[in-house]
Amino acid sequence: MVDGSTRRRLLFQAAALAGAALSPAAWTGAVAQTRLADDPFRVGIASGEPEPDGVVLWTRLVTDPQAMGGGMTRAPVRVGWEIAEDDRLRRTVQRGEALAVAEAGHSVHIEVAGLKPGRDYWYRFTAGGHASPTGRTRTAPEAGAWVDKLRIAYGSCQKWESGYYSAHADLAEQDPDLVLFLGDYIYEKKASKDGVVRHHPPVDAQDLASYRERYAWYKADPNLQAAHACAPWMVMWDDHEVSNDYGGDQDRSNPPVAQFLRRRAAAYQAYYENMPLRRTVKPVGPNMRLYRALDWGRLARLAVIDDRQYRAHRSCDAQSNKANGKLIPASCPERTDPRRSMLGARQEAWLQGRLGDTQARWNLLGQQTLMNEVVTPDGRVSNDGWDGYSQTRRRVLEGWRDHKVPNPVVLGGDVHTFFAADLTLEPGGKPIASEFVGGSISSLGRSNEVVHGMMNINPQIRFGDGDTRGYGQVDITSKECVVTFRGVENALVPTSPVRDLAKFVVEDGEAGLKRA
Ligand code: FE
Ligand code: CA
Repeated sequence: MVDGSTRRRLLFQAAALAGAALSPAAWTGAVAQTRLADDPFRVGIASGEPEPDGVVLWTRLVTDPQAMGGGMTRAPVRVGWEIAEDDRLRRTVQRGEALAVAEAGHSVHIEVAGLKPGRDYWYRFTAGGHASPTGRTRTAPEAGAWVDKLRIAYGSCQKWESGYYSAHADLAEQDPDLVLFLGDYIYEKKASKDGVVRHHPPVDAQDLASYRERYAWYKADPNLQAAHACAPWMVMWDDHEVSNDYGGDQDRSNPPVAQFLRRRAAAYQAYYENMPLRRTVKPVGPNMRLYRALDWGRLARLAVIDDRQYRAHRSCDAQSNKANGKLIPASCPERTDPRRSMLGARQEAWLQGRLGDTQARWNLLGQQTLMNEVVTPDGRVSNDGWDGYSQTRRRVLEGWRDHKVPNPVVLGGDVHTFFAADLTLEPGGKPIASEFVGGSISSLGRSNEVVHGMMNINPQIRFGDGDTRGYGQVDITSKECVVTFRGVENALVPTSPVRDLAKFVVEDGEAGLKRA
């Protein structure tokens, strides 16, 4: 039974989710019949955006993950949720209802507040006569509190076709406090003809329906679902959530700007619908402000930045074409133009503010790619990463130095290779920060022959492995930050052992990484 005030609240939530006013008469009738023949929790549940007093709980109703529309009709469905202090959901502390509407891809984003800081909670959803699995989440510690430890698992690049998700199964078993995903959650291209372990949909994702389908396709994976159910996530996208190597309003294939922005709007909407994000980041057209920071008491601050949406247009396209469309000569003058930003002026100012006002002992920067300058053996650099915007990198490094930011550590993804390196302002200079690029969950990387060739001429890179898939684990205490690269033995089989590949430590107050 839905009383008047509940109905008004549900209406408000439905309208907020859909981003449009809905007429009550249009759906109240439909909501009454909410029994669903099939399990609507086929793409799992998730939580994210932990704060000291709350988290976001997320689900999306899908009965058939490989069907357009997820097997759902246009009818809204009432979704119940509950959150408890124990894993058997006996000590429920809050419960409520929301509407899953077709206009939001039948996703629900529940922003729970009023929880206790720094503790585990368990949650689940019900809909149409079915109950979801139970997930575990965790609130952030009280603001300013001294905390003993923090474990973060971070990963990126999970191309469905290229491998299985043993990395996610292992990550869930390691019991992290927080999972950080740094982009390429989906890949947008249609199915490849051969050399794949499982198949993508037959067409490229480029409108809302096909992006939604792609997320449901990926999220049907039980190991990915387990990783979402084990801890709250913080997410950032990279390029493949929209289109390969896009930057700002520009795509590799140079479509008309208005056409590309329509595609970007669809991709961002699908991203929002499929991630445990707060409603404050919900996209407006092709714009979605995703950069943000999370404090874990006084132990750590994590700033997560968006280097795709606001970046200046790609540099050196003429030379790029001459170099087979991939890489540019290291001498390209636009690379070093200080007016070109990879983050945009507003985000750069925001980031400098977070460097300036930090109270945290460890200051993590979550970003999409490899931050270091890297020259390939034939003398080229990539113009898709920080090397295409070297003055933005310089300004971030100078920010750490000038604000005397304690213990900066960078976490990255994108390059499908594990890298551990120090960051310096000048070649061979004093380390200002260390960076750890966490490989890829399943996407194919470069060969170790190439990686070792790169390391020979880039001595700041202390470790590299492009053959092994996996993720990174960060264990932080007041004294040290230990980063473990976890390597999947064989990502081409559904279930693979996962082992320590390499381990590093950064000690409090001593810039520069060491092998542990
Ligand atoms: Fe990738
Ligand atoms: Ca990428």
